[in-house]
Amino acid sequence: MAKKKYDYLIIGNSAGGIGCIEGIRREDRKGTIAIVSDEKYHTYSRPLITHLLEGDVDRKGMDFRPRNFYRKHQADPYLGFRAQNLDVKKRSVSLVGINGNSGNRETLRFDQLLIATGGKPFIPPMDGLDLDGITPMITLDQSVAVKKRLGRVRNALVLGAGLIGTKTAEALSHVVERVTMVELADRILSPVTDHVSSALASDAFRGNGVEILLNTTITEIRGDDRGRVAEVVLREGTVLPCELLVLAIGVRPRTDLMEGTGIGITSTKIGGGVDVNVDMETSIDGIYACGDCAHAHDFVTGGMKLLPLWPNAYVGGRIAGLNMAGSPHIHKWATNMNSVDFFGLPMVSAGFMLKPKGKGFLEIVREEKGSYAKVILKKDVIVGLIMAGNVARAGLYLGLMRNKIKTTTFSQHLLADDFGAVHMPDEVKEKLKQPITVIE
Ligand SMILES: Cc1cc2nc3c(=O)[nH]c(=O)nc-3n(C[C@H](O)[C@H](O)[C@H](O)COP(=O)(O)OP(=O)(O)OC[C@H]3O[C@@H](n4cnc5c(N)ncnc54)[C@H](O)[C@@H]3O)c2cc1C
Repeated sequence: MAKKKYDYLIIGNSAGGIGCIEGIRREDRKGTIAIVSDEKYHTYSRPLITHLLEGDVDRKGMDFRPRNFYRKHQADPYLGFRAQNLDVKKRSVSLVGINGNSGNRETLRFDQLLIATGGKPFIPPMDGLDLDGITPMITLDQSVAVKKRLGRVRNALVLGAGLIGTKTAEALSHVVERVTMVELADRILSPVTDHVSSALASDAFRGNGVEILLNTTITEIRGDDRGRVAEVVLREGTVLPCELLVLAIGVRPRTDLMEGTGIGITSTKIGGGVDVNVDMETSIDGIYACGDCAHAHDFVTGGMKLLPLWPNAYVGGRIAGLNMAGSPHIHKWATNMNSVDFFGLPMVSAGFMLKPKGKGFLEIVREEKGSYAKVILKKDVIVGLIMAGNVARAGLYLGLMRNKIKTTTFSQHLLADDFGAVHMPDEVKEKLKQPITVIE
């Protein structure tokens, strides 16, 4: 069995893995790099898989980097290989070919390692999950498989109305007759909205024909005599026909490769994430982690937490790569920052969505027909932002937030129509002019 040795080994060929290659190559043109993924594809933008489903973008348009990327960056791609048996003492991992590569086995050794294995869908135990037509929606293959069966689908049901569920429901609404979202919480998009902004998003969905059922879930899945999903039963007994059921209840860090290796993993209520420092190194020297599988420093709360977002994965990977190549950097500008658009309703949110309990927090709100803005302040510093409908000044608020600027002298103008530099003291204007270095 071949045993190749690389200076840098990267597991995961997505935002984090690609960021890492680019970070390494900024400092080190010569060190050998390998990148491994059990998905067999050239690196693609995962958030675009729902756009592929509805035909908004083609496969080429999803490329995250040009096709000559690996060659240009002198990185050996091992695509279609699952990494397993990570041995942190021997600094080795075995690769097992999957799908078209089955039968292929290889062991790779490494000096330094980045783990960017992303997330896996959370699937609650339920009878009927093995029926044809039930799928999560987190990979290109899943999107292509759903697209292929669309001709047979009149009723699609999406379980879960977070970011992935809502994006899937919007895409399906353009290609399927009837789409229903079923959500256990009392609002859609709960991680990135409050009740008012969520209601605006719900109006956009309902206005475009998507049915939303809140405070409920599926208790039974029934199939037809050909083993295909046919209908679901909701908690209160309602029966809904569906020929496609997308499970979008949540994504958990994919940490199976690290379990039992000694790499520190902390459990949270949404699954265990790999522990890292702000330089993205794990508890083992020379082994780094980033993206959906790892924790990251949240600049709003000051703590380490899971931030399963594309920019967080990319920046975390890039910073890991810079550190691996000997250039010290830290990742301290992440938070749960989102910018989305549903049926033409733009929404931006960052930091706290709901005013935390405790002293020193203040909420300022502006609500008009079709638009909503809210900032949450702590001791006059913005720690939460929600904008829906009109997001024109989102960049300015995020700048104030990141710079931790005290808004004491101008907080009364924050949500005014004409809010801008004119309301701010000179030192604040100067500070905002200086670009934030996300990669420090
Ligand atoms: C439908 C959808 C919409 C989204 N929309 C947004 C959005 O609007 N904004 C936003 O910020 N984020 C969005 N996200 C989240 C974003 O895509 C993720 O945060 C990001 O992809 C995480 O990147 P990553 O590099 O950590 O891992 P991933 O993108 O999850 O990639 C990890 C890769 O590693 C591979 N892998 C895992 N284990 C192994 C192993 N043992 N061996 C080999 N390979 C392995 C996986 O198969 C996968 O290919 C969306 C996600 C989805 C699914």
